[in-house]
Amino acid sequence: MSKDGNTLFLRLAGPMQSWGTSSRFQLRRTDGYPSKSGVLGMLLCAMGVRREDSPPKLKRLALLQMGVRVDRHGTTDWDYHTVGAKIGIRSADGKIKKTQSTGKEETLLSRRQYLYDASFLIALQGPSDTINDCACALDDPVWPIFLGRKSCIPGKPVLVGVEIFHDLKKALSSVAWQPRMPTIDDHGQGSMQTLDIYIEHPAGTPAPDSAILVHDVPQVFGFYSHDPRWVIKDQITVPVENALCNLTDQPRVRRVDYTSQQWKNARQARLLLDNYLCVFCKSPAEEVHHVDYSNVGHETNEDLRSLCKSCHDACTILEYGHDMQARRVDPSDPAQRRTILDLINRLLKERRLGRRRELLEAARTVDFFGSMLDASSGEED
Ligand SMILES: [Zn+2]
Repeated sequence: MSKDGNTLFLRLAGPMQSWGTSSRFQLRRTDGYPSKSGVLGMLLCAMGVRREDSPPKLKRLALLQMGVRVDRHGTTDWDYHTVGAKIGIRSADGKIKKTQSTGKEETLLSRRQYLYDASFLIALQGPSDTINDCACALDDPVWPIFLGRKSCIPGKPVLVGVEIFHDLKKALSSVAWQPRMPTIDDHGQGSMQTLDIYIEHPAGTPAPDSAILVHDVPQVFGFYSHDPRWVIKDQITVPVENALCNLTDQPRVRRVDYTSQQWKNARQARLLLDNYLCVFCKSPAEEVHHVDYSNVGHETNEDLRSLCKSCHDACTILEYGHDMQARRVDPSDPAQRRTILDLINRLLKERRLGRRRELLEAARTVDFFGSMLDASSGEED
C-alpha cells in the first residue's frame, strides 16, 4: 500500500461503536458519527502515545481536516455499566461513599449508549508527512485500537489507504459503497447510493450558515478540554460496488431451512449412504455436515457427510477459524484428516479435563483425601 498522499482513508465498522462528545457522569451518549477526538485518540493509540505525552502530537493531528461518510447509520441502544467497584466513589465532601445496607464502597451505575452495526468511511486530509505517520501507525499499531470505547473492537481493518485529493468531498465520493450483504438482485451494476457526509470546514475562513459547531478537537487527553470546529452536513451519491466483484472467489452462502422436508430427505439419504456411520471415525453418526453450501435447497449426497457429534464439532471449529464461505472442511478428504484428528483429540482432552475437575470438586465436598484419590486415579486410565 502506498502511504504517499494527503488523504488518509479509514473504515470504522464493527458490532459496537460509541462516539460521545457531550456526555459526562452517569449518562454517556454517542453521537451518530465518529468524533474528531475519538478518531485522533485512536491514532494516538496506534502510535503508542501516552495521555501525558499527547499535547505536542495532538497539535499536529488536530490540524488534519476530517470528513465522515455514513455508510450505515446502525441502531442505538443503551447498556448497563458499573463504575468504581471496590475502588469507591467520592461524595461531595471528599469521603468514599458507603452503601447503607452493607457498609461497603458504593458502586456507581451508569448508562452508556452504543451504535450497533454502523459503518463509516473517514477521510483525513493534511500534510503528507503527518498522513504517512498515521498510516504507518495504523498498519502496525503499538496499542490496540478501538471504536470510541475499549469494548468496541473494529470488525474490519481500519486502514483503507492513502490517496491524493484536492478536497474532502471528492475524496469521500471516490470510494464505492458496499452493501452489507452483497446480493446481485438488490444492487445491480450501475446502481447508485446517496449517503450523508460531515465535512470539517477549514479553520480561518467564514463558515456557511448551515455549518454546525462541534466541540470535539482535543488539546490534551485526560482533561475535558475540547476546541470547537465547524462541520457541514451534506449528501453525496456514489456508485454501489458491483455485487459480483464484492464476493470472494467462493459462492455466497445461503441459509439452510432445517425444518424443510427437502432437508430432512437430503439428510436421510446421506445417512443411508454412510450406513449411519461417521465418515471420519466410524462411530454411529448423529449429524449431517455440509461440505458445500452452494446447493442449499437442493443438496445432493456429494454436498453432505454423515458425522458423529465430536467429529462435527471439530469440523465446525476449523471452519470458523478459517472464515470459510460455501466450501467447507471435508472430513472424507485424506489431506484434511490430520488437522481434524488433532482438533478432535484436543476437544476430547479438554472435555475429559472438565470431567476430572467435576469429579475432584465432588470428591472434596464428601471426603477430601480418600474420594479425591479414587476419582482422579479412575479418570487417569
Ligand atoms: Zn466421528
